[in-house]
Amino acid sequence: MSIQFEDFNLRPELVQAITALGYTQPTPIQAGIIPLMQEGCDVTGQAQTGTGKTAAFALPILNRIDPQQYLPQALVVAPTRELALQVTEMIQSLGQFMGVSVLTVYGGTSYSQQLNQLRRGVQVVVGTPGRLLDLVKRGRLDLTEVHTVVLDEADEMLSMGFVEDVEAILAGTSDERQTTLFSATLPPRIRELARKYLRNPKTVAIQTEQVTVAATEQRVYYVNEHDKLAVLTRLFEMEDITSALIFTRTRVRTGELVNELNMRGYPSEALSGDLSQEAREHTMARFRAGQVKVLVATDVAARGLDVEGISHVFNYDLPEETETFVHRIGRTGRAGRTGVAISLARPSERRQVRQIEQFTHQEMLEGTIPTAEEIQAKRLDGLLSKIEMWLKRGRAREERALVESLVASGVDPIDMAAAALKVARAEEKQRPIPEISPLPEKAVRPERRLRYDRSEGSGRSESRGKSQREFTAHAKPRASVRGKQSDEEGMIRLEMGLGKVDGLRPSDVVASIAGTAGIPGTALGRIYIQNHRTTVDVSEAYLEKIVSANTKYKVRGQSFSLTKG
Ligand code: AMP
Repeated sequence: MSIQFEDFNLRPELVQAITALGYTQPTPIQAGIIPLMQEGCDVTGQAQTGTGKTAAFALPILNRIDPQQYLPQALVVAPTRELALQVTEMIQSLGQFMGVSVLTVYGGTSYSQQLNQLRRGVQVVVGTPGRLLDLVKRGRLDLTEVHTVVLDEADEMLSMGFVEDVEAILAGTSDERQTTLFSATLPPRIRELARKYLRNPKTVAIQTEQVTVAATEQRVYYVNEHDKLAVLTRLFEMEDITSALIFTRTRVRTGELVNELNMRGYPSEALSGDLSQEAREHTMARFRAGQVKVLVATDVAARGLDVEGISHVFNYDLPEETETFVHRIGRTGRAGRTGVAISLARPSERRQVRQIEQFTHQEMLEGTIPTAEEIQAKRLDGLLSKIEMWLKRGRAREERALVESLVASGVDPIDMAAAALKVARAEEKQRPIPEISPLPEKAVRPERRLRYDRSEGSGRSESRGKSQREFTAHAKPRASVRGKQSDEEGMIRLEMGLGKVDGLRPSDVVASIAGTAGIPGTALGRIYIQNHRTTVDVSEAYLEKIVSANTKYKVRGQSFSLTKG
């Protein structure tokens, strides 16, 4: 039996709120964290946004609040204002039938409102490290009665240089407090923080691939550095972008890219750390409302940014840390929607791409840069689709009257239609298709390439009927997938007959094979899940064990065996 909310012994007001929010079952992180926090344990939670982690700590906090006491009883420290506001919102929603008093504190705004609220008395404080510490130092915020502290997105706080502030804040709390730390990744510095400030912490981990990668299509385009902008604009032409977040390595590159994109007719805005809090929020609001479709940011500027359903994440530059990649692409494909993560990599960055693939257990399909002909054909398709739509709708009454009067005055209808198309296409001229220089000869690896499929039907209607954004593998020798040799030394590529259609996820494959064959999970390398089959790289050293367990493998009730293809 899986764990239910009823198993947590929560106060009735919280159960009422859970029902009101429509949650029927705890998420895995909630099932792991809530009982431990209820028992009073310190906990390290490895999970990122989208897993239900906020409610995982908010429920135990609220369950423990004494509603009669108007002093800070719980504290949540978050790296950014956005995250602090989100956490507050969640605590307020869950505490709506308890009438809990929550204060959010963050920098960049006046003190007066936060101080007023503190004077009136608050029960939960949520804030960013700098302002929290400031209030503590000024003697305005007394944390001595705080019984629960949550450090949310600790790795973000670490990379933003907040660790010392966090340590100083913790020093102002009681040693008796319960401490919970959440982090998407657990690098050594975070483990050290946990060792220092948590007592015998229990760890609950939600695998990153379970929350992000499964819903994300990943592609990589190898390009010359100086062609990145040109390639990006070509991809813009071919992709169905509803909202895009583009990551650059530096703030300067963010600014330059936004200028270039705007000049080339692709409206975009920068989310920069330089912006005032107000301007930043304004930009974010416009992005959330869909008024700005393309946002360009550095990793630092994008921290804590919560937007759902981003259709595309572009890695204009690969991140320096492999783990950052997961943060970036975790912003796409949320809420059950499949997102696309596109990386532009220099030929010299192949090794880094491999590392990312290994880390995410997902292959990045290598795309071929759309040609000028493909882009022109796509533009034409778009134009003709629009015309077809108006023909079907038949509601262009005013325009029809105009045509009739022009025809009556002797204009040839065909000439007029051609002229009208010319006018309609004028906007395209603002977007010339930029030239791209070829990659150095030795950088080309045709066997792993994918391309936009325009191979079927030269007639307009067929090609339009079939999605032109669909990718198919071209010139990808079967052997490279089915062959015994993996790309990596010491690894052998095996194949199984289950895939995406069976709901297979990388974690299922690892759990089943490693668990059944009795081998460590690290003996498995890259896992590439296709629609009906999956390839798994395994360490040669464990091959015998793996193959000898072949009659016993099962995933989601379905048996499978591994073959060498
Ligand atoms: P978080 O990971 O805390 O950012 O939560 C992601 C989303 O999941 C939020 O919109 C929550 O409202 C939602 N959520 C949290 N817990 C549950 C649950 N048990 N069932 C359904 N949705 C949930």
